[in-house]
Amino acid sequence: MVSEVPTAVKLNVAASTLQITWADGHVSRYAGAYLRHICPCAGCRGHAPGERPPPTWEQVQACVVRHVEAVGSYALQFTLSDQHGTGIYTWPYLRRCCPSDHPELDDLGRPLSANNAPSE
Ligand SMILES: [Zn+2]
Repeated sequence: MVSEVPTAVKLNVAASTLQITWADGHVSRYAGAYLRHICPCAGCRGHAPGERPPPTWEQVQACVVRHVEAVGSYALQFTLSDQHGTGIYTWPYLRRCCPSDHPELDDLGRPLSANNAPSE
């Protein structure tokens, strides 16, 4: 049973890495750029006509996370180096976005295809 209840949240500012330990013992690690990439705010995720598309990896890969704070007991909010901070990351969303559940991503959420793309 996958847990959506965190038991520990640790931000490593120097490495720009967030680590969440879940009640089922699973440990998720997220690069700051990945957190920016999956920003759940309406501006990044909206699909209404005329809205901007979500950011591409190329646009966010230099982004780092500077600060994390709890939103009540249900979510986290981040201060990111590109000043974007409107996303509310609920625990179920973060658990669902755990890089280890996404084979196309490395262990911090960076796309493997970008790292392994053949150079021309
Ligand atoms: Zn956003």
